[in-house]
Amino acid sequence: MMNRHSINCNNCGFGLPCPTWGFFYVTDDNGNRLALAGELESTTIANTIGISEDAIVGCVFSPERNGEAIQLMQERVGYNSFFLCLTCLERCALDQKRDILQCPSCGSSDVRTFIQLIDTACPRCRKGTIRETVP
Ligand SMILES: [Zn+2]
Ligand SMILES: [Zn+2]
Repeated sequence: MMNRHSINCNNCGFGLPCPTWGFFYVTDDNGNRLALAGELESTTIANTIGISEDAIVGCVFSPERNGEAIQLMQERVGYNSFFLCLTCLERCALDQKRDILQCPSCGSSDVRTFIQLIDTACPRCRKGTIRETVP
């Protein structure tokens, strides 16, 4: 679904490309979040957190026998949403379930997901409205 989908201000032209609203990730041993192409991109997840692909598939089909893998997945796999900081207009990716929702650039907690921005006042010109543009 990589298209030219974006959200744009109907007044000043402020715009953000957003082919997706976020992405699944797996956390490596150093705490870095690696973006995944899909929720169960099992090869990358298996290699990163050190369990077998069978165990990952097993999480879905026989959870009672894969408790350890499920726990690791819950700890290490998550979903990052794209956010815009309304203070400095920087973009960032945060996990709404795990992270303190704060801009990493300026520290402001005035951040919104791209979805939340739709049909709200433009944070740049404060006159226009942010609209979703689907080509
Ligand atoms: Zn604007
Ligand atoms: Zn900021």
